[in-house]
Amino acid sequence: MSHDSNTTTATSHSSLQQSDARFHLHPFTNTTRLNNKGARVITHADGVYIWDEQGHKILDGMAGLWCVNLGYGREELAEAADAQMRTLPYYNTFFQTTHGPAVELAEAIASVTPGDLNRIFFANSGSEAIDTVMRLTRHYWALQGKPWRNILISRENAYHGSTIGGTSLGGMSGMHKQGGPLVPNIERIRQPYWYGEGGDQSEEAFGLLAARALEEKILAVGPDNVAAFVAEPIQGAGGVIVPPASYWPEIQRICHKYDILLAVDEVICGFGRTGNWFGSDTFNIQPDIMSMAKGLSSGYLPIAAVAVGDRIANTLMAQDEDFNHGFTYSGHPVAAAVALKTIDIMKNEHIVEQVRDNTGPYFQKTLRESLPDHPLVGHIEGTGLIAGMALVQDQASKTLFPSTLDIGLICRDHCFDNGLIMRAVGSRMVLSPPLVINKAEINELCQKVRLCLDLTLASAQ
Ligand code: PLP
Repeated sequence: MSHDSNTTTATSHSSLQQSDARFHLHPFTNTTRLNNKGARVITHADGVYIWDEQGHKILDGMAGLWCVNLGYGREELAEAADAQMRTLPYYNTFFQTTHGPAVELAEAIASVTPGDLNRIFFANSGSEAIDTVMRLTRHYWALQGKPWRNILISRENAYHGSTIGGTSLGGMSGMHKQGGPLVPNIERIRQPYWYGEGGDQSEEAFGLLAARALEEKILAVGPDNVAAFVAEPIQGAGGVIVPPASYWPEIQRICHKYDILLAVDEVICGFGRTGNWFGSDTFNIQPDIMSMAKGLSSGYLPIAAVAVGDRIANTLMAQDEDFNHGFTYSGHPVAAAVALKTIDIMKNEHIVEQVRDNTGPYFQKTLRESLPDHPLVGHIEGTGLIAGMALVQDQASKTLFPSTLDIGLICRDHCFDNGLIMRAVGSRMVLSPPLVINKAEINELCQKVRLCLDLTLASAQ
């Protein structure tokens, strides 16, 4: 594979690439750049590998979009979908109806969620789950007789999806510029990014400072106006920002003190990614409500869920009125059957324990050992099978490359050219391989990361 160049002409594109350029509007894609190069056509996949149209075998260091946790080619999931499609391909869960897959899946999710998060609402995507969290937390306070208590607090650089709700709640400035106006009554606080923003403070001190930004915000807008604080355990699409150990306990204390609902977005961290079923387990967070998607079905079919604790569930259920919210495909039987099978496999194959005790620590160690003092790498952070690294021009001063150089994209393209999917978030590179990755594949992954960073360094000089 040749290195990315903008000189490729349309005539050298395959017929799929040509039709793609003509008819397909891609998400989160610069169409001009895409059409110069032609989209990369992925044809099939197996285990932790995907193949492109030219027959290149590529190690998927991102599990698709942080979702194919069980790896590709799981026959059991295809069979679960096939069987459910033949029995009951669709029925809804509105208006006092239900069906086996939705009920069984709700029970299976409740068996792995932390604390009292035992009531499950279904959606189709993380964005819909987040919209549900936004509506539910505000509705909760309205039912408490405090409809004015509707401010949601989230964080800068957070990604919570791309519906108007998810976009508004998230802290991505590039997204805020498009398709507004945004949903009102959303406030943001700083992210707990110690390496990038902690200066010379200790991790612990910075973690407390970043958490106390929540208290300052609550006091600024008035505690009796705040519905909920919403955050990911580890900020994923923001670049894999792992908060200092002092951060979450302090956030938890502040939410209790001001009686603010704590909503945790587990769309990436959920289902084993951090070495426990949920990131909330890893950081000892006690959420009132939690969104999940991606790993729930290992990405094989679209499905998402919101798990609700007793506090909100009891309030909702005490009402003699509908909760006027839902999607045609809430609890879709085929997606639910596949998710159920996913959870079954995770339990039977002890995937979470594997990540916690074996492959997670091995990945974190091997990644660091593969890059001893690499001049490009300012810092590596991660836990379980998720990691992020900061690419810097100068390690001592943490100086970044000029943004016009797009160092992350240069690195991403070297990775693709060398058989590895690694994602760029600005100047950070992130990894989130399938949870079934074995040690030999982790070695291969880390060797490729090393090679691609060397090539990136050469390109930047
Ligand atoms: N929340 C988080 C933390 C995410 O990472 C994402 C997607 O990456 C979403 C929500 C949105 O999920 P979806 O793309 O399924 O709508």
